[in-house]
Amino acid sequence: FEVPIAVNEPVKDYAPGSPERAAVSAAYIKMYNSKVEVPLYINGKNVKTGDTATMSPPHDHKHILGTYHRADKKNIKDAISTALDARKNWAEMPWEQRAAIFLRAAELIAGPYRAKINAATMLGQSKNIYQAEIDASCELIDFLRFNVQYMTEIYAEQPESTSSTWNRLEYRPLEGFVYAITPFNFTAIAANLPASAALMGNVVVWKPSDSQMYSAKIILDIFKEAGVPAGVINMVMGDPVMITDTVLASPDFSGIHFTGSTHVFKDIWQKIGTNIHNYKTYPRIVGETGGKDFIVAHKSSNPKQVATAMIRGAFEFQGQKCSAASRCYISKSIWKAVEKELIAEMATLKMGSPEDMSNFITAVIHEGSFDKLAKFIDKAKKDKKAKIIAGGKYDKSEGYFIEPTVIVTEDPKYTTMCTELFGPVLTVYVFEDKDWLKTLTLVDETSEYALTGAVFSEDRYALEVAIKALQNAAGNFYVNDKPTGAVVGQQPFGGARASGTNDKAGSKLNLYRWISPRMIKETF
Ligand code: GLU
Repeated sequence: FEVPIAVNEPVKDYAPGSPERAAVSAAYIKMYNSKVEVPLYINGKNVKTGDTATMSPPHDHKHILGTYHRADKKNIKDAISTALDARKNWAEMPWEQRAAIFLRAAELIAGPYRAKINAATMLGQSKNIYQAEIDASCELIDFLRFNVQYMTEIYAEQPESTSSTWNRLEYRPLEGFVYAITPFNFTAIAANLPASAALMGNVVVWKPSDSQMYSAKIILDIFKEAGVPAGVINMVMGDPVMITDTVLASPDFSGIHFTGSTHVFKDIWQKIGTNIHNYKTYPRIVGETGGKDFIVAHKSSNPKQVATAMIRGAFEFQGQKCSAASRCYISKSIWKAVEKELIAEMATLKMGSPEDMSNFITAVIHEGSFDKLAKFIDKAKKDKKAKIIAGGKYDKSEGYFIEPTVIVTEDPKYTTMCTELFGPVLTVYVFEDKDWLKTLTLVDETSEYALTGAVFSEDRYALEVAIKALQNAAGNFYVNDKPTGAVVGQQPFGGARASGTNDKAGSKLNLYRWISPRMIKETF
């Protein structure tokens, strides 16, 4: 059978007065004014443990949106055993049925759930409507649709046979269950990590981030309605160390699909190593873990284009993307023009609640993130090597608001040039025009990460030099564009070094990790 050819979901513009804007505003207000309860989800049933924590909008932290329940060890063991039971049917289910379930989920998001999942992402994760639409609706729909298409392309890949030998590859899921740990910053990633493994016939224990509970609940509602059977995707939240340790202690643990911080992923890798003798099969380890992403601008580049890329790359969704630009290297002869554009454009950015759709910047995710960012900003205010040329204010009285901030430093290894901050803080180093190659080497050596990066140049020779010099510095490399906003089906996403296993989300390369093929040779 052929599945429908995947196409990217068009992004709606939410123009003032449009029905989409009215629908999302109404959903936002309704959800703001009611209380939600998010139970665990095990074996197709809601499990209320009574051990609850509250959820608040980061931009309005005194307001309570509702509560979510926290798991204990027994809940995690139940989630594992239930998943293993469900595997018996799910792994044998014809792939057309699995495809139909996830294609239906995509249509539910595109239609009836769109306003709701966008509003949940705006309320719970403080995305503005445009960032919510791109993430919770379009990227998530794209993941679901394209993965179905990629699955069928993989299944069609078969070895040669002869008249006397029939060779067939049977694309089986992993033996055991997959553990998905998902981040707060993309609703699409939170859904895709369990969904892509499940699509390939695996069963999943899913631990979403505490800071993404509202949209996690909507994802579950959609999966249920689309027909994901009981036990296939089980959602548990609570103490992350207890959950992970309990999961990794199971002999049936067969893979982890992770997006989060480098140190947590390394800890998990180490624990998997410690447990390795207990597992039935070598677990697949797939993770995307952060970045210190760069923009480098050659003297030949267009200053306005560079400034806009810096703003969009660094400050969209408050810089809380693994791909966000956070260190920039600008050639001296264009710097004054870039700076002028930067300051002029930044003066137009409005900050506040996502409920007001004219706000570009909203709050960072929680107090821990706010305090960390404020500390780095304060340090830059005092340091002789650093100068803040835009922003620098912060206020957590109502929400965790950090003004988009640009630091200029004369030290290319200054702390904010090297440390991942995960917030709206961008550091700039200005280099001598003649030092192009020297600067590219510096870019490559400055951070341990290698997720995204962008080079701006109108000079093809200079560009060629950069593409070569930075070949290991970014898994997603952009020429004359900001380093964020990879589109499923167009730019498979992921990086190496401390940024992850580079298993390219939104591509076949990722799906291959969730299968354990059996080669059948039959001789006549
Ligand atoms: N895929 C996103 C982008 O290209 C980033 C994902 C992330 O932050 O983990 O901007």
